[in-house]
Amino acid sequence: MSTHRRHHGQHEEAPHHHGHSHAGEDMLSVEEAYERVMASFAPLEGVEVPLLESMGQTLAEDITSPLALPPLANSGMDGYALQGADIAGASQDSPRRLPVVGIVAAGQMPERPVEAGVAMRIMTGAPVPDGADTVVPFEETDEVQRKTEGRPLDEVAIFSEMPVGANVRPAGEDIQPGELVLEAGTAIRAAEVGVLASLGLAQVKVVRRPIVSVLATGDELETAGSALSGGKIYDSNSFGVAASVVACGGVPRLLGIARDNLDDLHAKLAATAGSDLVITSAGVSKGDYDIVKDVLEQRGSMNFWSVRMRPAKPLAFGHLRGDGDKDVPLLGLPGNPVSAMVAFEMFARPAILAMLGRPVRPRPAVDGVLTGAIRNYDGRRVYARVEVEKRDGVYYATPTGPQGSNILTSMSRANGLAICPEDLPAKHAGEQVRIIMLDWNEEVEL
Ligand code: AMP
Ligand code: MG
Repeated sequence: MSTHRRHHGQHEEAPHHHGHSHAGEDMLSVEEAYERVMASFAPLEGVEVPLLESMGQTLAEDITSPLALPPLANSGMDGYALQGADIAGASQDSPRRLPVVGIVAAGQMPERPVEAGVAMRIMTGAPVPDGADTVVPFEETDEVQRKTEGRPLDEVAIFSEMPVGANVRPAGEDIQPGELVLEAGTAIRAAEVGVLASLGLAQVKVVRRPIVSVLATGDELETAGSALSGGKIYDSNSFGVAASVVACGGVPRLLGIARDNLDDLHAKLAATAGSDLVITSAGVSKGDYDIVKDVLEQRGSMNFWSVRMRPAKPLAFGHLRGDGDKDVPLLGLPGNPVSAMVAFEMFARPAILAMLGRPVRPRPAVDGVLTGAIRNYDGRRVYARVEVEKRDGVYYATPTGPQGSNILTSMSRANGLAICPEDLPAKHAGEQVRIIMLDWNEEVEL
């Protein structure tokens, strides 16, 4: 990531006017927070999986070929296998006539060699008989004519000469025995699944998928499917976060809802044993019941809890003490659903990709034109939800309505996040803006 410019100027003269703002020193830049998070993640160990399950994962072993591919020289066309020298000078006007001594289909071995002066019918993919060095496709022979006239197929007229070797696919043309075909670390796409199958491999070792425990916190939360009593809201974060985990290749483990008391939170966190990452939501700001930070300090260590961004400033990161030396990283996402999703995008997704052994890249970003203003009240980097459209080769970013971090439908309408840097009070309509493209996947995804 590029180095971050510290915010200065008017924001320092005019101190934060939000009552809940923390002193500037507590807030990390997005880059610093990103570096600190990513320092805790590396590719997980390899695991054997059935071939098809490897799709979208990262190869955890070098693959050397146990065989040549193709295993034998074979025909690239339906036609006649012969010795190229026999048809030198053949043409429409003076065809070369050769006796047909047999036929070889794909999956068979030729029953005899092809000596000078004879031809053998051969199908695409069939092994080229010993002696033959060239295949003449049916189109260059009287094949169709003889068939329509009902003439026997024991002789063929060749209408064209061919370079020696034409339409013969040599043994090992694609892969030599012992060759390094795919290296550990390769992202497995459909093409790689096909290559692995072509080597006869039914299983392959891939970097295992991270198990990500997802825990919502809050006294106000109810689970979808149950009735909503007074003062409650449905828990959307558990599902939005778990869906995001699936989208980037992790395995979510839904731990439900912890109520806003230390006992319940401790109890629910006990179920995180064995996971590679714990993602909580809410309970990380400065309210009376924001206890994720407290628990993190009691059960492990806190690295940071505030990032200079909007939304998602109250974002905690630390480690839960695990068995032996295996501490489990914990990302405490903010409670507001948009903040949770944006924080996931910026920090959890790269962490999961790192565990999956992918080259960790941010989403692709484009430069575009903003069609509505983005305000920056307090010197944070603003990520505004926008709908991006391309017209006449130009990307236009239109804010998707009110930008409150509780308005989740604005995220659903967005396909991009437009950035107002921390040192600008606003980006105005008509100005150039950098846009993170949320629906452009640069990697293999499931
Ligand atoms: P908190 O960080 O606990 O102060 O929560 C901030 C806001 O996010 C509050 O309005 C919460 O009701 C809301 N919120 C917290 N958790 C969830 C959740 N799992 N689903 C939807 N909204 C939530
Ligand atoms: Mg709360």
